[in-house]
Amino acid sequence: MWSPMRAIDRYFSSTPIEGGSAALVGDEAEHLVRVMRARPGTQVILFDGHGAEYLAQVERIGRAGVDLAIVERRDADRELPVEVIVAVSLPKGDRQKWLVEKAVELGVRRIVPLRTSRSVAQPVQQALARLERTVIEASKQCGRNRLMEIGEPQIWADFVSATEEVPTRLLAHPEVRARERGKRSGPLFAPDESRADPVLLAIGPEGGFTAEEIALATAAGWRPVDLGPRILRVETAAIFLTAMVTQHLLVR
Ligand code: SAH
Repeated sequence: MWSPMRAIDRYFSSTPIEGGSAALVGDEAEHLVRVMRARPGTQVILFDGHGAEYLAQVERIGRAGVDLAIVERRDADRELPVEVIVAVSLPKGDRQKWLVEKAVELGVRRIVPLRTSRSVAQPVQQALARLERTVIEASKQCGRNRLMEIGEPQIWADFVSATEEVPTRLLAHPEVRARERGKRSGPLFAPDESRADPVLLAIGPEGGFTAEEIALATAAGWRPVDLGPRILRVETAAIFLTAMVTQHLLVR
């Protein structure tokens, strides 16, 4: 057994690791050789996004990449006890990247980009590809061995009808008027609620969900959750709600 994971750098292998050897190419090889100045004999941790991690030793540094020998395989499960899926109308640029990074850190299984009436940044394929890189970087940093998925963009109404069977579906929606009437939001989960996979969370766009979108979702069984008297940015709301839910799932 090797010492705690933080002591050794982690690298992502884009090809599944099988057998006694592995190879790093592209950015990962570049980083290992040019930045970390690895030499034959240097030890690193590899992961391929499928759940395990591997202690590996650099064997050969070539033009095309770095060849490594696998020293030891370890199933290091750092996932949440329940799958959490976050459907969100993505913000733009850096805030989108921030959201993805934090979602990886908190253990979110999948982000589903939502298209809603008031969505502004329609996720394009190129932006989604950049986010895949953010997922890898965050996973390297936080020790996660399974890659968070970025799903296909979904239209809100389609997503609502496709997920009707899921027991736990929470929708972030500021209940300003209800609050002004003195109503307080209830507990996030009923005490006897089953914690079956997956838990679905939804966060609207900067302009909010429309009344119709909320009505559609609540009629289908989504529970609105108020996150307090201040209006949060999309990414803050997403991470806050995820943190509330994961805390609940971890402490049980
Ligand atoms: N003007 C919009 C605010 C949108 S904020 C409105 O009144 O609906 C963007 C998204 O973040 C919202 O759609 C909601 O999902 C979430 N959000 C932000 N602040 C929130 C709060 N205080 N409570 C619940 N959800 C919130």
